[in-house]
Amino acid sequence: MAEKPQSVRVLYCPVCSLPAEYCEFGPDFEKCKPWLIENAPELYPDLLKDSNDKEADKVSEQLKSVGISSSGGDGTTTAAPSGTSIVLLF
Ligand SMILES: [Zn+2]
Repeated sequence: MAEKPQSVRVLYCPVCSLPAEYCEFGPDFEKCKPWLIENAPELYPDLLKDSNDKEADKVSEQLKSVGISSSGGDGTTTAAPSGTSIVLLF
């Protein structure tokens, strides 16, 4: 059995030209991320988590704005009563 198995396939990133698993050490990891998510998500499962978190943030922000506008009543979100933030801190 002198031949090497072909199961190990090295993916090279077209953005930084490093092997995909070394992208995080490269100069442009931020730019690599979209390609990595598409082509090597198993190497960077955290990237998928990040994008999911962002989606969750959007949804929670929408829920918050809905809550503010429905509970405010007068239509102004800038004039929050000063007592409210103090209560939240405690
Ligand atoms: Zn890269």
